[in-house]
Amino acid sequence: MRTSAVWYPFTQHALEPAMRRVARTEGAYLIDEDGAPILDAISSWWVVTHGHRHPAIMEAVRLATETHDQVIFAEYTHAPAEELASGLIDIAPKGLAHVFYSDSGSTAVEVALKMALGFFHNLGRPRNRICVLEHGYHGDTIGTMSAGERGVFNAPYAPLLFAVDRLPFPEAGREQATLDAFEAACASGAVAALLIEPLLLGAGGMKTYPASVLSELKRIAERHGSLLIADEVMTGWGRTGSLFACEQAGITPDILCTSKGLTGGALPLAATLSTAEIFEAHLSSDRRKTFFHSSSYTANPIACAAALANLTVWKEEPVRERIDALSERQRRHAAHYAEDRRFSDVRQLGTIAALDLKVPEGGYLAEVGPRLRAFFRERRLLIRPLGNVIYLMPPYCVTEAELTQAFGAIDEAASLIAAGRL
Ligand code: PLP
Repeated sequence: MRTSAVWYPFTQHALEPAMRRVARTEGAYLIDEDGAPILDAISSWWVVTHGHRHPAIMEAVRLATETHDQVIFAEYTHAPAEELASGLIDIAPKGLAHVFYSDSGSTAVEVALKMALGFFHNLGRPRNRICVLEHGYHGDTIGTMSAGERGVFNAPYAPLLFAVDRLPFPEAGREQATLDAFEAACASGAVAALLIEPLLLGAGGMKTYPASVLSELKRIAERHGSLLIADEVMTGWGRTGSLFACEQAGITPDILCTSKGLTGGALPLAATLSTAEIFEAHLSSDRRKTFFHSSSYTANPIACAAALANLTVWKEEPVRERIDALSERQRRHAAHYAEDRRFSDVRQLGTIAALDLKVPEGGYLAEVGPRLRAFFRERRLLIRPLGNVIYLMPPYCVTEAELTQAFGAIDEAASLIAAGRL
């Protein structure tokens, strides 16, 4: 009998086992109520970068609670938000000048879409088309679902979703088709922005594409006066090997969305960074040109303090060295399976490794997914395949032994599935 009143996200309550309670977290582990450590090989939905409860970030949170709780963020401001904004501008791709705060990846993207449309509207040259990549994921609000791949996740809400122009995913050898489709869409003169996950599409199946495609898309956007919105909600904070994935393409997007690793995974916070041009299009003695967006907990001071501490961790600790070392380990482990016939499309980008388990029917609802999840759960590994796509995106403190354990379990699960024993 169900005893919990909680309605959990992405959870089919009729089928799922009881939730396992986490008593505390530490480094790369969740520790359950019986004291059993569970290796968090997906960084708790990709938010935890350095490791759970990084001491400097938790200390900053404790200190911030001595002076602040929520502070209204219009007419009034506070040091953590101001310092964080300038810190973010310092480390973001050059050319981004303003920071708008919100609370989640989805809201960071919603804000970006509104900035893009507001920009053209305020200039008196309205544009209303948004281009996106096939297989993209940008969140679960109505706006971000509209921009994301359509399917089982959003079918009931389809009547409310707005239309976008979808570009084919730049599959290896077919990159030109993506560029051509974007060029053709832009020719209409109606494209406000291309919204894109740089280098790696996360929830859409950990699909990677070359940096050269991203830089070419940016050039096309510039030629047509369209904006490029980089959704770095997942890729930011070192996941793909560089602080932001856009760096690898040598581009500065017009708008950059960040969340997840912004606080190192300690507290919810998001930021949408824009160029001066976009900000200035909203500057006017005409109050109708105001950027009309807010949420009650915008720029929460304690979350901003956590993010500021995260910036200090990046400056003072060898984070980049840890990322390089983890990326190299992921590369070696993935390479081991490159020719393995149980898998296809074995890939690695920075700290992320992914492989597709060959099954008769793939996709997010592949029936192998829950069986794999149950197997990993039993092994005390938090690994949540996206259907038949198995991936590891651990915190940067994960050790070689822990990574070997995770790959070992994937190997064993694949063998059991192949033998019809799982
Ligand atoms: N954008 C990308 C690329 C994401 O991967 C996600 C979440 O996984 C989001 C947006 C939505 O973020 P949130 O779940 O914090 O709303």
